[in-house]
Amino acid sequence: MRSVSIFGATGSIGDSAFDLLTSSGGPEAWRTVAVTGGRNVARLAQMARALRAEVAVIADESLLPDLRAALAGTGTEAAAGTAAVAEAADRPADWSLSAIVGAAGLAPGLRVAQRGGTLALANKESLVAAGPLLMGTAARTNATILPVDSEHSAVFQCLDAGNLDAVASVTLTASGGAFRDWPLERLAEATVDQASSHPNWAMGQRITIDSASMFNKALEVIEAHEFFGLPADRIAVLVHPESIVHALVTYVDGGTLAHLGPPDMRHAIGHALHWPRRRKLPLPRLDLAALGSLTFRAPCETRWPALALARQVIAAGGAAGAVLNAAKEQALDDFIAGRIRFTDMAPAVAHALDRAAGRAGFSVSPDSLEAVMAWDAQARRDAAAWSVAA
Ligand code: NAD
Ligand code: MG
Repeated sequence: MRSVSIFGATGSIGDSAFDLLTSSGGPEAWRTVAVTGGRNVARLAQMARALRAEVAVIADESLLPDLRAALAGTGTEAAAGTAAVAEAADRPADWSLSAIVGAAGLAPGLRVAQRGGTLALANKESLVAAGPLLMGTAARTNATILPVDSEHSAVFQCLDAGNLDAVASVTLTASGGAFRDWPLERLAEATVDQASSHPNWAMGQRITIDSASMFNKALEVIEAHEFFGLPADRIAVLVHPESIVHALVTYVDGGTLAHLGPPDMRHAIGHALHWPRRRKLPLPRLDLAALGSLTFRAPCETRWPALALARQVIAAGGAAGAVLNAAKEQALDDFIAGRIRFTDMAPAVAHALDRAAGRAGFSVSPDSLEAVMAWDAQARRDAAAWSVAA
């Protein structure tokens, strides 16, 4: 029986993973070691019960009594706090899903890599903020990192025996998000509600807004650079409103392989869950005749300034990714709280990058969690200061 842990079980990706586990035998087929959540005690306890998890951890420490009460009589241990979330990653499990949103996902993922485990990585922020640290740790311990972000899973599946030397370029598709077809002059008035509704994918609120601003794709370009080791000029972005083609890999001989599927994250999660085998997944199948046509267009850099920031960050190297990720999280907080406009997020992030570059340059890549979090904290202060001034 294989053992699994889910970090960020109460979120959108966690929900999809739960669905895959319960629909393929649940606790009879899988031994669940740990499930963690941020604040949703009821959902976390329900999942822990259904999967008969060994431990359930809630990140918010004040909720420990509630979690204890909800798990009474189940045999599942209750724990709380950020340190407990990271410690749960030390417990041996064959497969661990990193599905916490934001830089908070880095600590448990890094701990899985440190013990040489298999890490299914939905938390792209880990690779953006600390790619060399996470990948370097995995290389040292022989840990396996499997991409769960749909585009990166698609590239992974199109790679012919990992033959990266023969790859001319990879192309990540982007739906274009909520404001793909809005007139540019209306973007400044876009509300949080409008930005929180995605045309194709049902996801957490933060990544949905990041899709509208294209910061999600900016993170993904950096994620592809860190994960596949490709330079920025071999990573392209293509707007594809239908979200059916998830990525393309073009080889040096001109052949291009594409990965297609309905926009459902259970495919990428299920692929990582069963890798290196392929198993039947309870998912809708693609009906191209019903779809009729697929369309593509080049991304507009004026509409989506985040894309240029990603390339700037890859060129700068070092700690630039940690700065971009943290400044983006702060700018997103400020937008959601109504402190800045939708179109202010990219300038706030650019400001934090400029401040960091001006202070010390990005020099070397942070080589510890503490070093990453120090860059992260300063970048949040710089982005917040920009927002206050705006
Ligand atoms: P979500 O907001 O729905 O869920 C996030 C999870 O993290 C929840 O369980 C939440 O309780 C937990 N969490 C939040 N803050 C935390 C903290 N400080 N400490 C501990 N736990 C915390 O997000 P999501 O849409 O499921 O996305 C999760 C990750 O997967 C993100 O990194 C996202 O970029 C990535 N991703 C998501 C999708 C998608 O379809 N939703 C697709 C590709 C990649
Ligand atoms: Mg993606």
